[in-house]
Amino acid sequence: MVPPNCHLKIIKNRNYKYLRLRFKDFSTLLLTAPKHISEKECLNFLQDNKEWIATQINFQSQITYTLLEEKIFLFGEWIDFKDTSIQKLWQEFISTTTPSLTIKTKLQEFYQKELHSYIQLSLQHWCSLMNLYPSQITYGKSIRQLGCCYSKSHKIRFSLKLSLIPKALIDSVVIHELAHIKYPHHQKEFWDLVLTYDKNPKNIHLWFRKNHSFNLYLYKRIFKN
Ligand SMILES: [Zn+2]
Repeated sequence: MVPPNCHLKIIKNRNYKYLRLRFKDFSTLLLTAPKHISEKECLNFLQDNKEWIATQINFQSQITYTLLEEKIFLFGEWIDFKDTSIQKLWQEFISTTTPSLTIKTKLQEFYQKELHSYIQLSLQHWCSLMNLYPSQITYGKSIRQLGCCYSKSHKIRFSLKLSLIPKALIDSVVIHELAHIKYPHHQKEFWDLVLTYDKNPKNIHLWFRKNHSFNLYLYKRIFKN
């Protein structure tokens, strides 16, 4: 269950409460376990998590491949990014499973800047069409909530996760949150308003159904410190 070019390291310590698996680097799978856990229990744990291991290896090979291709992942696709400082940053980021905090912070700033530029364009377009204007825009790191509109203040907070999804779907989130300025619920009037501007608000769910796990993998690697 451990891939051929991967080395398994088991560390037992009485301070560990649970069995836990993670990749220390691309070729070392680390299993930490409480002291009393037997070798057999460790192997059973590996067996139970073999799909997780395979998925992680698959994602890692997807992103290491781009080292050769000199592409970075932005707005739902691998793109050629001509800025050499960003390319260098991305390469440093993906050549290890545990990038330094400095690299992550710089990369997060880059993603926030890219997202903000697009959100500005999208808002310019949709605010005037819908005649709804947020009082303020902020960014957060929520995994579950892509956007959130505060009903009293009409502030909108967008998740930085949007920087990893296609621009057309960001528009869906923008329309959804702007509609909340008028209707702070999900009842019929709300959806009627959304549907006036977004013919297919379900596309985002369809996209996530297909791309959820890779997207989440990348999101956590970039945005969770
Ligand atoms: Zn909503």
